[in-house]
Amino acid sequence: MKKKVIVSACLLGECCRYDGKTKKTDVVEEALKEYEIIPFCPEAPLFGTPRERINVVEINGKKRIVTDETNKDVTQLLEDETNTFMKLHPKVDRIILKSKSPSCGYGTTPVLNEKKETVKLGNGIAAELMSKYYKNIKIEDELNFMKHNPNESDRL
Ligand code: SF4
Repeated sequence: MKKKVIVSACLLGECCRYDGKTKKTDVVEEALKEYEIIPFCPEAPLFGTPRERINVVEINGKKRIVTDETNKDVTQLLEDETNTFMKLHPKVDRIILKSKSPSCGYGTTPVLNEKKETVKLGNGIAAELMSKYYKNIKIEDELNFMKHNPNESDRL
């Protein structure tokens, strides 16, 4: 049986980003030939594509996910979507998520204050939940792959 890997769908060529574009990263797919790939995107099913951008915003010491223009708090929706996905896939061998995303970024996502200034880098909401649910699996991102394939980095 093949090992299983969760991959952010935009890295696989799905046009599911907020701007309707993809972040297809050939080197990631190439590296995962031997795996059963499980695409993951919590935002597109909830909000459609294209959609308003969202941000991680620290409010009263707590990280919330808030829409960029309409200031709507969508944290709970994204948590529910991610929890449902994880319950469907309780056992995986590897996780590769898109860097810098308010959902998928792991340690690379801008965290804003209420004035929309970046105050630090942190985790996207889905990456945060996955790091707790899949405790023994180190979350990777496409930047790990870029280090070994510098020609690809121009496209990210
Ligand atoms: Fe979807 Fe994550 Fe890619 Fe954003 S980074 S488009 S949430 S898969």
